[in-house]
Amino acid sequence: LLNNAKQYVDNVFSKLQTKNAHQPEFLQAAEEIFLSLVPVFEQHPEYIKHNILERIVEPDRIVSFRVAWQDDNNDVQVNRGYRVQYNNVIGPYKGGLRFHPTVNESIMKFLAFEQIFKNALTGQSIGGGKGGSDFDPKGKSDAEIMRFCQAFMTELYRYVGPDVDVPAGDIGVGAREVGYLWGQYKRIRGAYEAGVLTGKKPGYGGSLARTEATGYGLIYFVSEMLREANDTILNKKVVVSGSGNVAIYAIEKAQHFGAKVVACSDSSGYIYDAEGIDLKIVKRLKEVEGNRISEYVTYRPKAVFTAGCDGIWTIPCDIALPCATQNEINGEQARTLIANGVKVVAEGANMPSNLEAINEFLDNGVLFGPAKAANAGGVAVSALEMAQNSSRTYWSFQEVDSKLHNIMKSIFTESSEAAKKYGYEGNLVVGSNIAGFVKVANGMLVEGV
Ligand code: GLU
Repeated sequence: LLNNAKQYVDNVFSKLQTKNAHQPEFLQAAEEIFLSLVPVFEQHPEYIKHNILERIVEPDRIVSFRVAWQDDNNDVQVNRGYRVQYNNVIGPYKGGLRFHPTVNESIMKFLAFEQIFKNALTGQSIGGGKGGSDFDPKGKSDAEIMRFCQAFMTELYRYVGPDVDVPAGDIGVGAREVGYLWGQYKRIRGAYEAGVLTGKKPGYGGSLARTEATGYGLIYFVSEMLREANDTILNKKVVVSGSGNVAIYAIEKAQHFGAKVVACSDSSGYIYDAEGIDLKIVKRLKEVEGNRISEYVTYRPKAVFTAGCDGIWTIPCDIALPCATQNEINGEQARTLIANGVKVVAEGANMPSNLEAINEFLDNGVLFGPAKAANAGGVAVSALEMAQNSSRTYWSFQEVDSKLHNIMKSIFTESSEAAKKYGYEGNLVVGSNIAGFVKVANGMLVEGV
């Protein structure tokens, strides 16, 4: 092993590139983290000696399975299911399930790898994992969704458990899907092991405030970022991409703190409402009716719908919150946001900004909140759900929300202190990567090879 930190990191990365040549999202997530870690290896030769980087970037295991199910026409459909169990040094593997046609091994690995460090940052006892399927929930009936979830769990059950691996939701998987997955797991196991899944319905094993957690947590994090700059969210103009669970509750909390949210989107396009988004309409369209966001303008004629998603970042704003999916902001879009005066960018989605965009933000003095810190509120409350399940108790909404608030504050403090300690003051990308990594790396040293 080379003992020069930069050379060590480069070496591990080039091996990784060779082994994963066809996994661009995974390599992108790994590169961002690796670049942050050079100063850590400079100060911790023991991590190099024990080859922590090459070990941590190799998943413990990846399971992949066939999911066959019957659609409403009685035709048999086949999808691929995955579960990546990346690292369980801090606790059982933990991370969501994504149902989306783009799901493949690269996407699963990038999400699971990021999850290790995000989960470590929460200070809760949860390791890193992720799973999902290339199943497309769009246009499927409720009965089809149920049958797919049952078929998926019929394969997945043998790899998960409250002390083994605890899935939850992600894109395409919400409380309804978790409910069907949970029902099937319980049927197969013949036991009420509530802690096997999080994001369950409150009253049926779920925690209050889990639905709101990612969005609320994002805004708590943004508040901390602004507080350090002697500023607040009050009266700020905000653009949010997405209109799923994360976006909706980010909008709700931002409005609660006095911000003006003027745009949100779905995969078909975005709406701009100069007077401020009426969240009741968005909630009804998205949570109740399962409608497209374009319908918004029929209720608010002054609002404008634009087809296609890229244009949303041309709307001038103080705060941009990408809450849709990976790689929704590239260098070009970042430069437009900067030219229009953006002050804060915080990531509600996982890896929504590519590397070029992140560097643009950091180089131009934009306060940048990276996903693994800024969106950790969701998985943090998942850990609180596991804690409630283990003790067979339920906490009030307020109790969970105030724990979430404290967790987000401490993620901010730890990330910003780690950045300072390693010579990157104000850089929360480096700070959160280091703070998360050090916890896991130390655990790996304790466990031995
Ligand atoms: N899918 C969410 C994330 O990206 C939540 C995961 C969980 O609650 O386990 O962090």
